[in-house]
Amino acid sequence: MLIFLIYALTTIPLSLMLIYKMKGMDQLRAQTDKLKKSLDDMDEQAKLIVRTDMELNKIQEELDKKISGLYAIQKLSHIISMTLEEEQIFKRIQPEYLGELGFEKAFGFLWDDEKKQFTLRFSIGYAEEEIKPIASFMNSNKERCANFIMGERTLSSISASNNLISPEQLNEVFKVSSFIISPLAPQQVNKGLIFAGTQNIETQVTEGDEELLKILATQLAQSLENARLFEKIWRSQQELEKKVSERTRELTTALEEVKKISENKTNFVSSVSHELRTPLTSIKGYAAILLTGKLGDLPKEVHERLEKINRHSDELVHMVNELLDISRIESGKVAMRTEICGLKEIAAKVEDLLAGQLKERKLYLNIGINPEANSVLADCTQIERVLINLIGNAMKFTPPEGKITIRSLKTDKMVQVDVIDTGCGIPEEAHQAIFDEFYRVDNTINQEVKGTGLGLALVKHIIEAHSGKIWVTSAPGAGSTFSFALPAVT
Ligand code: ADP
Repeated sequence: MLIFLIYALTTIPLSLMLIYKMKGMDQLRAQTDKLKKSLDDMDEQAKLIVRTDMELNKIQEELDKKISGLYAIQKLSHIISMTLEEEQIFKRIQPEYLGELGFEKAFGFLWDDEKKQFTLRFSIGYAEEEIKPIASFMNSNKERCANFIMGERTLSSISASNNLISPEQLNEVFKVSSFIISPLAPQQVNKGLIFAGTQNIETQVTEGDEELLKILATQLAQSLENARLFEKIWRSQQELEKKVSERTRELTTALEEVKKISENKTNFVSSVSHELRTPLTSIKGYAAILLTGKLGDLPKEVHERLEKINRHSDELVHMVNELLDISRIESGKVAMRTEICGLKEIAAKVEDLLAGQLKERKLYLNIGINPEANSVLADCTQIERVLINLIGNAMKFTPPEGKITIRSLKTDKMVQVDVIDTGCGIPEEAHQAIFDEFYRVDNTINQEVKGTGLGLALVKHIIEAHSGKIWVTSAPGAGSTFSFALPAVT
């Protein structure tokens, strides 16, 4: 019993200890497993980190390549867009820009619509004898090349479907191991393509490179389009200039002819007037002698007729004198003696001269010369003539009890004089023509009022000989305002 007790007392704790230890072992094992799993996980994660790092490096490399490619494209695009000459655009594509994109060979062809073939516009990295077979390739595959251009998609050695260049041609004709080819498709003409490639077998073109070449092709196409439009505008401008100078030449010749005709007319009028003046003076002289009765008494009818002859001769002399004056001013034979003239003084002189007629016709003359607009640079005698003519006309065409006003005002560097009447007025369509020689408005008043149609023509010549201008504002029944402007005294 004691033995059993001793046995029990020793085994039970031992068993308990064993059980406890075994439990600890299990826990240890579980922890070891956990640790192992964590280590495995960590290993996996480390591998993942390495893999990610490698990928990141690759992406970084690609990004760097892309950035430097983009930078090169941006520089090249800027350079080619700075010219508007087709020749220059291609000359500016230099090897260093392509080098930055990883290519050492390149060329560009454009379709020549006149020659019906592709013509080489630039080449980089090819000797002359190397480019010839490429040109032959292009022109013996015109249709395929044209279809490729019209397709507006880039093609490269990594493209899934390359039905343009076979691997053998790539080596033998194009002398590259990888390439990108992109259409040049300006909106209108000059369609073509650009090719870039490399012999370096380690360099593989990427989709990114394709994109870059496409950007370059788009920029090139845009620059070609700009150059074409500029050329078109330049040509039209040249044509226009040619036409303008042709027309100017024609007009100058016509003007010279007109001048000659006008000169001939002036000379003719002047000599005819001279010729007329001598017989007219004798007619007037004889009529005057006969009218005095010194050569004997005249029957009443003869006297009346002689008076008519005398009156008509006076009118003719007046007309001939006006014609002579016009032709003299026109030919520049009468020089205007410019001095400072006071308009108030001239107007008063004219008023004195016409006072009798004004009274007779029951017309009221109002002179309102503004002291600020009194002095003009002109030939005073000629300006007096102008005012006599204008007031004379106003008197002729204004019914009794009417009013005639002379006023002046200053405009910029000129003095404007207005002669205003309350007469019959002038229709708009005659405003220009009344300043032509022999023009008279076709109205009932003119059938009664005598005139030659030369007065305003003479006035216009005098004003224009002073570098001034004359115009009329009028309407039938509303009176007329004849205005002229002369250089003011500053
Ligand atoms: P004339 O008075 O000798 O006919 P002018 O050359 O002076 O010649 O005038 C040309 C025409 O202009 C006149 O016949 C007349 O019809 C018109 N005219 C000129 N001045 C006036 C005026 N103040 N009012 C109305 N008509 C006028």
